[in-house]
Amino acid sequence: MAEDDVTGRRIQVANARPEDAGRGLARLPLAVMAQLSLAEGDVIEIIGKRSTAARVVRPYKEDEGLDVLRLDGLQRANAGVGSGDFVHIDKLESRAAQRVVFAPAQNNLRLQGHPEALKRVFFQRPLTAGDVVATAGQQQVPPGDMPPQLRQMLAAPAYALQEIRLVVVSTIPKGIVHIDAETEVELRPEYEEPKEARRADVTYDDVGGMADTIDQLREMVELPLRYPELFQRLGVDPPRGVMLHGPPGTGKTRLARAVANESEAEFFLINGPEIVGSAYGESEKQLREVFEAASKAAPSILFIDEIDSIAPKRGQVTGETEKRLVAQLLTLMDGLEARTNLVVIAATNRPEAIDEALRRPGRFDREIVVGVPDERGRREILGIHTRGMPLGDTVDLSELARMTYGFVGADLAALTREAAIETVRRFMPRLNLEDGTIPPDVLEELSVTRDDFMAAIKR
Ligand code: ADP
Repeated sequence: MAEDDVTGRRIQVANARPEDAGRGLARLPLAVMAQLSLAEGDVIEIIGKRSTAARVVRPYKEDEGLDVLRLDGLQRANAGVGSGDFVHIDKLESRAAQRVVFAPAQNNLRLQGHPEALKRVFFQRPLTAGDVVATAGQQQVPPGDMPPQLRQMLAAPAYALQEIRLVVVSTIPKGIVHIDAETEVELRPEYEEPKEARRADVTYDDVGGMADTIDQLREMVELPLRYPELFQRLGVDPPRGVMLHGPPGTGKTRLARAVANESEAEFFLINGPEIVGSAYGESEKQLREVFEAASKAAPSILFIDEIDSIAPKRGQVTGETEKRLVAQLLTLMDGLEARTNLVVIAATNRPEAIDEALRRPGRFDREIVVGVPDERGRREILGIHTRGMPLGDTVDLSELARMTYGFVGADLAALTREAAIETVRRFMPRLNLEDGTIPPDVLEELSVTRDDFMAAIKR
């Protein structure tokens, strides 16, 4: 195709800031907006391996001059790209939908909600079947000139006490549409597979306080998985094994899942203690089977949690079973063909307790430390776990970050859950438990306060 037959343009994707996550925005350089005759609030189609859409907003100040499109993790998944990849963008007149059908984006979640409330949450949001979207509303909309569609989209109320991810099962008409006052919205109670589904349960946006760790992992794991031919061409072997070490609850598992999703790789998990506990001979067999399945499904990431239980120092174990299991793991690592696009990520809190043989070149020869988050990290993690939560004005996440010295991600997640439970307790008398639903007016008033957090911290 000749260059002038194509409209739109190519642009490189970069990560959005955490506060933009889940809002359906596309931050574009002013020069690109001018080139494509785009005004703030206009809809663009974003085409990677898949196609999705977003509303255009001006760039962050410090981005001026950079030729990048900023998208959040769900949007990148919806477009089938990672940050650093190129997408094609073009202006698009999105049509108002007659009908949009949503379902929970997870298998194990049953939802009974108010389609009318959902309609407000996604009002004016450009959507297309197969998109995974999050109910992350409740942010303040800055004053100033703004086209009404954009303001309406940004002023979305919260939907529930926590962020919920939904998949757009279908729309009428097909293609890229937005919800307006006339749209009929339906919420199916259980997960339904849309066409061309792609998991996006966890992305880099969902791990907080780990910017450097994410950079390291992207280089070590995501790049080789996405561009194996590059590594072959350069004649370097991509890493096969990466060891993550840090205390429990710091987000190692979540991070590994995010890397898998962002690399469009399949994710396999081995839980160390579980596999060790199996019957005689079973442990090795299970290990072999998972390695085999992961190789077949490549590109894939095989995550081994608490590897110290599978591979303790051989000098220190007495049992034959343990020795055989370490040997089996070494054999499997060595047996991985260079061309198999599989990376094994192992996690441990006790790096010193692991058999040294596992650290040899070609095995787990890369190491990344995942530490306890500092105040800034805690602030970011709190931001992630309160995304989509209706927070009262009194809640100051920076204050909470200061008060939670020593908390790891899992503790902070638990804290926000506890605070939400406090809120529910307060509202309990107003809920109609008999018919199992929450009146919409109560739902709208529901908000988590500073006191709820303080009560949760005390527990
Ligand atoms: P680990 O594998 O290090 O034990 P997990 O990844 O299993 O930790 O974390 C448990 C839960 O704690 C996660 O599902 C998440 O809710 C929360 N969590 C932990 N670390 C983070 C983080 N850095 N950012 C956001 N959430 C986190």
